[in-house]
Amino acid sequence: MRIDVLGVCFDDVTLEEAAQRGEAMVRDGGFHYAVTPNPEFILEARRNEPFRQALLEADLVLPDGVGVTYAAKILGRPLKGRAPGIDFAQQMLDWMGREGKRLYLLGAKPGVAELAAANLKSRYPGLIVCGTHDGYFQEDGPVVEDIRAHAADVAFVCLGAPKQELWMARRGPECGVKLMIGLGGALDVFAGLVERAPEGFQKLGLEWFYRLVREPSRIGRMSKLPLVLWHAAGARIKGM
Ligand code: UDP
Repeated sequence: MRIDVLGVCFDDVTLEEAAQRGEAMVRDGGFHYAVTPNPEFILEARRNEPFRQALLEADLVLPDGVGVTYAAKILGRPLKGRAPGIDFAQQMLDWMGREGKRLYLLGAKPGVAELAAANLKSRYPGLIVCGTHDGYFQEDGPVVEDIRAHAADVAFVCLGAPKQELWMARRGPECGVKLMIGLGGALDVFAGLVERAPEGFQKLGLEWFYRLVREPSRIGRMSKLPLVLWHAAGARIKGM
């Protein structure tokens, strides 16, 4: 069942259930893609219909953070919890390592995906990182061909939103992978260039706050969180 939060419909799953679904998609074959919307996505989707469609058509739509789960609660349609993209990716990496699956890393500045690949290979023995490509390409064709040529099972697509969701929806089916996951800045984290918040902050759902203190220039982007709660309260009052 999906829960509508201001026009973006989320799968009501725990992180474990999300991982089980992701694994089943890889096992079943065919093309699938997963998205992990946060409040910024929700606001962008309200004025960018192709982006909203790309989110709606995804096979798995995970609530990335407390902004989404609070908004759902305010709307009177609570979600089971949050399933941040990076945690979902880690669950999938654990499984792919155990099963010896092939992963392709697409995105971030030149050199970052290679650094991330080296770190992931040592952290998840058994995982095959079969190819990488930076996220600053002009033409899609050669990238599609490269992913196909490496016969990846899963691809992490880290081009930032809305670019990565539009790319997965439009070009994903040609790439021969079974599952693509849109993961924003995750390659910068896996490469060790950006630190995740300490576990205490993560557990409290305050990862955004930690990131804001470390990178105050993100204040503009983060103001989207209260704005989404405001819209949710408005929709609830109007009985939408
Ligand atoms: N990026 C990219 N191609 C682009 C624009 C961005 O590969 O054309 C990368 C960028 O280098 C970064 C990621 O996409 O690694 C987006 O990071 P952001 O901080 O926006 O992600 P989030 O906050 O959503 O995790």
